[in-house]
Amino acid sequence: MQNVNSNPVSRLEEIILKIKKVGYSLTPQRYEIIKILSESKNHPTATDIYNKVKLVYPMVSLNTIYKNLTMLTSMREVKEIKTLQNAVHFDGDISSHGHIICENCGKITDIGINTDDFNEFLKSDINNALNEDYHIRGYSIEFYGLCRDCYEADKN
Ligand SMILES: [Zn+2]
Ligand SMILES: [Zn+2]
Repeated sequence: MQNVNSNPVSRLEEIILKIKKVGYSLTPQRYEIIKILSESKNHPTATDIYNKVKLVYPMVSLNTIYKNLTMLTSMREVKEIKTLQNAVHFDGDISSHGHIICENCGKITDIGINTDDFNEFLKSDINNALNEDYHIRGYSIEFYGLCRDCYEADKN
């Protein structure tokens, strides 16, 4: 996959460095899972990842995929996104961005969020008020609606 706008190699290396730092082993299957997550732009499900890893390692189990996703999510290297259909998708891109999720088909699209705006938000009164009880370490912004295809189909 050639994509001039992304830099999958550095994200892949970034996650691998964290894995080594924490002391987890880097098995070939784990490497493949991380590679898929760091290169994917379409927020895959565990099954999507399983089907891709299976092409390289036919003996891999879905359980292995789940274990690795749980590990990466708890390390905060991967984000979980749930659709209204209760499907769980995974995002290897942990940079500041939000999502628009189609209520009908579950399609997930990234929305860019200006990090300067977010830094301003962190300095804002609302955050100061929240910080009396919490130290905020992250956030998630999700919009729900209908994608163009589902909206057009709904109208007819
Ligand atoms: Zn849709
Ligand atoms: Zn995303």
